[in-house]
Amino acid sequence: MYQTRWIMINIGIVGLGLIGGSVGLDLKKLGYCVLGVSRRKQTCQKAVALGVVDEASSELSLLSIADLIFICTPICDIIPTLKQLIPFLSPSAIVTDVGSVKTPIVEGVSQIWPNFVGGHPMAGKAESGIEVAQLGLFEDRPYVLTPNKNTPLESLEKVKAIVKLLKSQVYSCDPYQHDQAVAWISHLPVMASASLIAACMSENSPVVIKLAQDLASSGFHDTSRVGGGNPELGRMMAQYNRLEVLRSLYSFREKIDEFIQHIEQKDWQILEEKLRCTEQNRRLFLHYESSD
Ligand code: NAP
Repeated sequence: MYQTRWIMINIGIVGLGLIGGSVGLDLKKLGYCVLGVSRRKQTCQKAVALGVVDEASSELSLLSIADLIFICTPICDIIPTLKQLIPFLSPSAIVTDVGSVKTPIVEGVSQIWPNFVGGHPMAGKAESGIEVAQLGLFEDRPYVLTPNKNTPLESLEKVKAIVKLLKSQVYSCDPYQHDQAVAWISHLPVMASASLIAACMSENSPVVIKLAQDLASSGFHDTSRVGGGNPELGRMMAQYNRLEVLRSLYSFREKIDEFIQHIEQKDWQILEEKLRCTEQNRRLFLHYESSD
């Protein structure tokens, strides 16, 4: 219903990087008028040249005619950006964001612009910036919306309808539960993978490290990928979801210590049982096979 009624809306995007640019590419392809704002003029020019937006500017006033605005800046800039945007917004404008942490944003924003729907597309890349924006980035990926008790239901439904057009699998949950869940499957993996890279780089034999580099294949590529991503994003995940990231890291440290203990004590049977258990749990968790 909303999809049809809303087909003529103007979309605004603030922060023309990987995520903002990818939202723009998809919605522009679907025929929406997409207006983009980014910090640097050079990025605005690139966004127009790459077909990410119809029009771009470093001035937020461009978005005065937007009906739905995606704030796609780094996490720390989401609330300050909204505060600067408010004087230009039409009273009915809906604002959503794509920040990787939700509790502080949803709490902060609902005080200043109640017509807000928190969101987080679970898709990304190691690289950042407008140059790596990609058509179809969100296709078949989860996209979670995080309403709270103040979120207008109609706005939630409208944002849901637009997100569905990105071909995402739409989920809805409480902001705090979101932060708890992503600590396990996104933020902890970044810290664990970064620690793996750092540990590997601590090898002090130049011969061994060179050989390891030559031999690194799919296993190391897979396990180091998220630790080799955008450092600013990783820092903000930890900074804005600090308690949940710490909780997951303490648990991770405990598990690492258990593995160390089994190896020190040559508990090979227990070690294999544990690995058998993780092999099975991974399949179940990622729905690679049914539980029976
Ligand atoms: P990104 O590629 O670095 O893009 C962010 C862009 O925002 C920058 O290129 C920058 O462009 C612009 N920008 C920065 N500060 C701004 C400001 N104050 N006003 C306007 N524009 C500003 O980062 P990203 O990966 O797209 O991440 C953006 C958001 O998406 C973050 O909140 C992140 O948590 C979330 N997210 C990221 C991923 C991921 O895997 N990367 C996944 C899901 C959600 P210029 O300075 O060049 O103008």
